[in-house]
Amino acid sequence: MYDFIIIGGGIVGMSTAMQLTQVYPDAKILLLEKESGPARHQTGHNSGVIHAGVYYTPGSLKAKFCLAGNKATKAFCDKHGIRYDECGKLLVATNELEMQRMGALWERTAANGLERYWLSAGELREREPNIVGMGGIFVPSSGIVSYAEVTAAMGREFQAAGGEIRYNAEVVGLDERADEVVVHTTDNAFRGRYLVTCSGLMADRIVRMLGLQPEFIICPFRGEYYLLPKQHNQIVNHLIYPIPDPSMPFLGVHLTRMIDGTVTVGPNAVLAMKREGYRKRDISLSDMFETLTTPGILKVLAKNLRPGLIEMKNSLFKGGYLKEVQKYCPSIVKADLTDYPAGVRAQAVSRDGKLIDDFLFVNTKRSVNVCNAPSPAATSAIPIGAYIVEKVREQVAAQGGNFVKAVTPNNLRAAG
Ligand SMILES: Cc1cc2nc3c(=O)[nH]c(=O)nc-3n(C[C@H](O)[C@H](O)[C@H](O)COP(=O)(O)OP(=O)(O)OC[C@H]3O[C@@H](n4cnc5c(N)ncnc54)[C@H](O)[C@@H]3O)c2cc1C
Repeated sequence: MYDFIIIGGGIVGMSTAMQLTQVYPDAKILLLEKESGPARHQTGHNSGVIHAGVYYTPGSLKAKFCLAGNKATKAFCDKHGIRYDECGKLLVATNELEMQRMGALWERTAANGLERYWLSAGELREREPNIVGMGGIFVPSSGIVSYAEVTAAMGREFQAAGGEIRYNAEVVGLDERADEVVVHTTDNAFRGRYLVTCSGLMADRIVRMLGLQPEFIICPFRGEYYLLPKQHNQIVNHLIYPIPDPSMPFLGVHLTRMIDGTVTVGPNAVLAMKREGYRKRDISLSDMFETLTTPGILKVLAKNLRPGLIEMKNSLFKGGYLKEVQKYCPSIVKADLTDYPAGVRAQAVSRDGKLIDDFLFVNTKRSVNVCNAPSPAATSAIPIGAYIVEKVREQVAAQGGNFVKAVTPNNLRAAG
């Protein structure tokens, strides 16, 4: 019998596992991951940006956790010798409408407590000679890292503290009983007193295995990138982002300096034809059927028909994609856009057809389930893990659970 079982070896699951061992050092903890290693899905297919917390609604979990996560991620990297670069981000306005939106974003960054600087067109050019714009916001605390490396280090710390990880262990059934949860994988069954699920693109399916009828469904959005050729590795000094359209859920195609020294362009956002499909030709008929017969998703698609079609066109034809980038970086030409692996975002959609904006958790008596953890969840993984551990602690206490001793936060602090 395990004290805690965690499903999902992405950054959220691994961060939670690591922090559970810190709070419950004597507990028997198991993490199950269906792939052969950590970070094989969203965590290993993203832009690698340590976000600062520019965009998020003040007071939301995203705003709170991103701000704290930015610092916590860098501190974790310092402790574990993981390379990151605090290169800063520039949000660039290219027309009058974007200048107006930039004003609203400026207010939001203030409400979110960020250090930031307003740049004129001249100041922008000084910082970024290859970027054109009417003005910009400079956010110095944004950075870049490999989240796959961070996740692997969290896994090692979890194991060093006595945690057990089983890869190639796909969970296919869950049975929550009065005093335990039985977790069925393709080969085995494991019993645990409490369960935490951090299953990304499969979050709704896992919650259904618990017998719940979730109020949301995961809608998979592909994010496609291009890689710039080596000679462009110095084309920008910072991360370059457009000023986002506030009515759109994603941030727009950006120029991202990656931690390996290369520069990518992307990601766009197109409906994926398979939840874990990374190639354009990946299609799952059952995933597509589920997506296209869900009224909530159909409403989202109908509401965003025009931008959705433009994104699809730009995905099929480089020319449209290129135009998005040339708005602020005119020196990039079509031949510069070379293939790069895509990612697939797990975006929860409510039954009534809204993209769920904030992080979302659904609890049962013996489980805490992460149901919506899109960007900036990689940046926020350490605070998200701490939040989950706190929820678990409340549940254990509410049920008079004294099966395993928790280290109180004061003791934790004293232990360093
Ligand atoms: C294109 C793109 C760009 C992004 N850019 C950024 C960025 O720059 N900065 C940022 O902060 N965030 C970014 N994000 C968001 C970030 O990557 C995710 O929010 C984060 O990785 C979510 O982590 P996770 O652990 O919840 O999910 P995942 O990494 O998807 O992990 C879930 C894990 O659960 C496992 N699993 C699922 N079902 C089962 C099962 N039945 N049995 C066992 N295991 C199972 C999966 O195999 C997977 O390993 C981006 C995302 C994408 C897709």
